[in-house]
Amino acid sequence: MFHKTRVKLTAWYLIIIMAISLFFSVFIYVGATGEFDRALRMQEFRREHPEVEFRTLLSNPLEYQTPPVAPDVQVIDEARLRVLESLIGINLIIFILSAFSGYFLAGRTLKPIKEMVDEQNRFITDSSHELRTPLTSLRSEIEVGLRNKKLNLASAQKILASNLEDIISLQTLTERLLELSQNGKLVDNNFIEEVPINLIINEAVKKVETSAKLKQIKIENKVKKEQVRVVRDRLTEVFIILLDNAIKYSSEKNTVSIISKNVDSKIEISVIDNGIGISNDDIGHIFDRFYRANRSRSKVNASGYGLGLSIAKKIVESHKGTISVKSEIIKGSKFTVSLPKA
Ligand code: ADP
Repeated sequence: MFHKTRVKLTAWYLIIIMAISLFFSVFIYVGATGEFDRALRMQEFRREHPEVEFRTLLSNPLEYQTPPVAPDVQVIDEARLRVLESLIGINLIIFILSAFSGYFLAGRTLKPIKEMVDEQNRFITDSSHELRTPLTSLRSEIEVGLRNKKLNLASAQKILASNLEDIISLQTLTERLLELSQNGKLVDNNFIEEVPINLIINEAVKKVETSAKLKQIKIENKVKKEQVRVVRDRLTEVFIILLDNAIKYSSEKNTVSIISKNVDSKIEISVIDNGIGISNDDIGHIFDRFYRANRSRSKVNASGYGLGLSIAKKIVESHKGTISVKSEIIKGSKFTVSLPKA
């Protein structure tokens, strides 16, 4: 498909270049042969009327008097042929050069489009794959439930509870997919406002409190007040994702800390946990869409889709900030968001 389009584009480049080149060639040929004909007619006239003094651009007046010889039609015809041959030769060279450079340029033009299409296809494949898992689980549970003629209320409730879990999971996934598919529109600049960063962190902490309590994890919030210009909801989401992960990838009764530090014109906020950590092999990929590390080491990971960090990164970068991670297996991880101060 890419190759076919490239050839088509090359053909279009060729058609345009050759149309221009042929237009000028015809123009040059008609002009040149016109000049030959004029010179021929002039010589003919001078030969027939030797008494007439011709004014030409020749500087030597003696030459005016030179009796013209009979015009050599063959020489003129040969000259005409040479012009034609030269023009055909030039057009052939232009054709070959344009074909090669056109093919190269078409490749360059289509490369970003190809990358985008490949990326979209990968996104669709990955999304469908992720959507299939909870859907298959939902379907099989319902089918088994329906086939069971002696299904009692307690079993039915158990199935419904499990179905609900799958539906919530599907909802989260579709919301995240929607967010990611919006690409550049992840942050709307019209909603940017000046807010103290500690307020945003407080909001994020509130949102993860329930899951932290479930694992008896303590959240230590030491973020200082510092104004930032951000889209409040979006930035809160970044810290919900980071805190959620810190809780998810930590064992029970652990502590998750959030600290802030002023660095020149920036503020750095770090979310630190003492959880399972990330291996060197995985750390370079965790911000990629659908990437999930620690699969074999973590059971909790089954609840993730590998989309959180890629969304967080996009949001932070839309605020002209950066997000980085330092981690050590078993010891824990530190995610740092750096944002320009207001
Ligand atoms: P997920 O929904 O799977 O958590 P994320 O994009 O948020 O997706 O994270 C990508 C992967 O990075 C996770 O699957 C996990 O393996 C790893 N990860 C993220 N945060 C942490 C953390 N605090 N500790 C250990 N691993 C983490």
